[in-house]
Amino acid sequence: MSDKNQGLNDRLERKKRVQRIKTGMLWLLITWMLALMLISVTLIAKVHSLQEQIDIITENTIRSQQVDQQENQAPNDDQDQAEVQIYDTAAENDGGEDGQILPADAVHANQTKISVKSAETMQEDSGAEKKEEDVRKVYLTFDDGPSRNTEKILDILDQYQVKATFFLTGREDNAALKLYQEIAKRGHTIGMHSYSHKYDAIYKSEKAFKSDLKKIQERILEATGQKCSLYRFPGGSSNQVSNTDMRKLIRILNDKKITYFDWNVECGDATSHSYTVEELVDNVMKDVVKYHTSVVLLHDAFNKSKTVKALPVIIEQLQAMDAQLLPIDENTKVVQHVSAESVED
Ligand code: ZN
Repeated sequence: MSDKNQGLNDRLERKKRVQRIKTGMLWLLITWMLALMLISVTLIAKVHSLQEQIDIITENTIRSQQVDQQENQAPNDDQDQAEVQIYDTAAENDGGEDGQILPADAVHANQTKISVKSAETMQEDSGAEKKEEDVRKVYLTFDDGPSRNTEKILDILDQYQVKATFFLTGREDNAALKLYQEIAKRGHTIGMHSYSHKYDAIYKSEKAFKSDLKKIQERILEATGQKCSLYRFPGGSSNQVSNTDMRKLIRILNDKKITYFDWNVECGDATSHSYTVEELVDNVMKDVVKYHTSVVLLHDAFNKSKTVKALPVIIEQLQAMDAQLLPIDENTKVVQHVSAESVED
């Protein structure tokens, strides 16, 4: 009898042991799966972040190459600005007090005699709207977003009740979708800054440029319901890295009635020189005083936290000098390094 009981107990014990082992294995499996999922997510995030870094480094490299070229071509130039140099239209027009900024490359390399008059200098020629010009207009523009800094930038702009312009690139993830919508919802102007932001790809041919343009226009339409007709060329309209004649690409935009904007003031957050927050502010302030209409180049990118820190100070200083901070709209005087009107149909 007791033997029978013993046997029963043994069987029960064994059953329990097997059960325990099974449970243990199940937990082990679950833990493994969770760990694997965690590792995958981390790796995906890492890859994404690395891709962003590669893009930024590529842009920085191209920019510093441009600067190097400028320095080589104009070794005795007094102007020691890293990115752009003042091209004094006053010297040619005798009268205009505003110089026009464009990269020295554009001046030196454009043997093709591209007209580089901005709408602003043309306006001055005609002498119209003198009163309007007494008001200093500043257009803050943010390139390369959306990014993990977009939300912070939007909050700062809200805090100071300032509307700005975002030149956006293409992203498909949900976080980006929300940011596209948030930028539109909060009343800022949306412009295109190419879908891929890869110079090699966009500037490979007219066809490649057109297809990238279509993609970013569709992405913004899909996300915000806006048909965007505002563009900023990656590297600007006078960039020297495009494999395609920029005038051909300008013609494409002209045909589609898309207006492109370059800039005449930059904070320097995309140059190879790593400016401090104070220097970023100073870079903007020292150039803004030169123009009635300033289009300021800033970046909305994951690694531009100094720009985010500089932004409130820039806004406060601009507001202190009674500048109007505005989003780009159809009435904004265009600032273009290579004028759209200089490109014939
Ligand atoms: Zn860019």
